[in-house]
Amino acid sequence: MCVFCKIIAGEIPSSKMYEDENMIIIKDIDPKAEKHYLMIPKKHYKLIADMTDEDGMVFQKCIRKIPELSGLLGLNGGYRLVINQGDDAGQTVFHLHVHILAGQPLDFPDLRK
Ligand code: 5GP
Ligand code: ZN
Repeated sequence: MCVFCKIIAGEIPSSKMYEDENMIIIKDIDPKAEKHYLMIPKKHYKLIADMTDEDGMVFQKCIRKIPELSGLLGLNGGYRLVINQGDDAGQTVFHLHVHILAGQPLDFPDLRK
């Protein structure tokens, strides 16, 4: 089992912020911003390229849940979602997940140009 499957199964402890039938949101163990969460679909697959149509339906529900949780997660000043895919992006855990970064001006890197 991968590390995120173990977290979902409760075999590895995590700071869980939210859970439903499709996904969990936990605090990243090594935060890169003032607020740094991981939204992890419960089903294990590695990449967007591996998504089935059903996975895609579940995923859009998960993504659309994030703004509903903005109060709980402290996202009211804005937030950034990041999905690393593969080696050049620095992906280290090969179970699809979305980074949620917030709580400060996110000027790293500057994508606004
Ligand atoms: P990636 O580099 O694959 O996009 O992101 C993996 C993220 O998972 C990293 O930001 C890393 O800090 C986080 N991470 C790795 N292992 C654990 C863990 O056991 N618990 C938590 N909460 N986060 C983890
Ligand atoms: Zn997994």
